Amino acid sequence: MWWLWVACASDPAVPTAGLDDDGVESTVVHEYPAPYRDRGGDVVLIVLDTLRADRLSQWGYALDTSPGLAKLAAQSVRFSQAWAPAPWTVPSTTSILTGQHPLRHQLRRPGDVLPEAVVTLPEHLRDAGWRTAAWSYNVSIAPKHRHDQGFDAFTSNTGKVLGYPHAGRMTTAAGAWLVGSPTPSFLYLQPMNCHGPYKVPKAHRDALLGQAPTEGFAYYKGPMQRILKGGRLAARDKVTDLYLQSLREQYDTAVRYETDRIGELVDALDAAGRLDGALVIVTADHGEELFEHGGFSHGYSLHREVLHVPLLVKFPGQTEAWVVDEPVSTVDVTPTVLDVLGLPVPTGDGRSLRPYATAGATLPLRPLLFDVFWPKRIVAQAVLVGTEKYVHINHDYQGREDLEELYDLAADPAELDDVSGVRQTRLFELRTLTEALAAELTGTAAPENVLTDMDRSQLEALGYLE
Ligand SMILES: [Zn+2]
Repeated sequence: MWWLWVACASDPAVPTAGLDDDGVESTVVHEYPAPYRDRGGDVVLIVLDTLRADRLSQWGYALDTSPGLAKLAAQSVRFSQAWAPAPWTVPSTTSILTGQHPLRHQLRRPGDVLPEAVVTLPEHLRDAGWRTAAWSYNVSIAPKHRHDQGFDAFTSNTGKVLGYPHAGRMTTAAGAWLVGSPTPSFLYLQPMNCHGPYKVPKAHRDALLGQAPTEGFAYYKGPMQRILKGGRLAARDKVTDLYLQSLREQYDTAVRYETDRIGELVDALDAAGRLDGALVIVTADHGEELFEHGGFSHGYSLHREVLHVPLLVKFPGQTEAWVVDEPVSTVDVTPTVLDVLGLPVPTGDGRSLRPYATAGATLPLRPLLFDVFWPKRIVAQAVLVGTEKYVHINHDYQGREDLEELYDLAADPAELDDVSGVRQTRLFELRTLTEALAAELTGTAAPENVLTDMDRSQLEALGYLE
């Protein structure tokens, strides 16, 4: 064991516990030492939980919500049309970490566990010589669900704090880890402040608006919890303009807080000379509905607001910025990372975005399939082909059953005008395509499901369990 001790002792320390604002221990570190070789460059993958693309300044939002991403964006490819394959954490994050579509890996319910047989991105990297560390404050992306496969250290939310710890603690600790860790290292982050209840530390509440967000919306009280627990139609009458304004200001303030912290992390890596050579990816697992279609949160629909996510990719050595408007998927993250590093890219459901490292490059158009199977909320599938989007959902907010919709995103990016009634042929074609893609992808995996009482209370607080 002597060699193991030496390897560990020379590694940068990862804090073994963390205290939240109330002094309660809220994170725990799991360590898994491994031998290393020397190869390639650093990789930083940041999944900002629940961050919809259109709320970022870089995606055209009117408020200055994301100056913290400016420095990174100035030397990155910005994918203006990046889409998550599912509208909530478990299926979507698992796809980011595996390169498999949710229909393939089949992690589609709260508490589903990633089978050992699935080889994750960090496993590929660790096998090739990368040191690997993760911080995830989402209780569903945690060692108990085996999302720690391939990580030398995984700092997770203990579940003792209602909601989650703040992103600042994560970015400070993670930056220190990467700066102190030899190249090549892989850092994975999943902060939670953009997820309800949109917590922001007191000192940062006026950073966006010059004052704290308007009061009125309360995640744990009133209409929100009734909406989240199923009494949606009745509770929605209580959603006033002031309530909506308050909700949106709280969300936007959380976006500002969290992206400011990412900006600090980027600065820290730059100061340590660890930014230029690194592959840095910033994205989200899904977005958030803020009543655009009459609903709230995520996992209840397949509209743009829950599927259109940010994606910035800074290729190693990149010094300029450009924009790719072709639709891409977050399932593409794993093959992209492996391809950029020159590692074998196993067969999967995504494709490498490495060609876009050349400005002006294009790739053949490819349909993107979306899926959600959450019987307590919705069962739905959708497909995006260019700017056409087909949706088949078992019920919507108006109580309509077995609904098919067709949207022309070029004319109607907000998906407010269903044209299925006047484009019947196209509706039929895209329905057929959706069914064919789903049949091709559907795997036979049946993941184990694990939920403790503490998990249940955490997930209930976040609105996931009734
Ligand atoms: Zn999420």
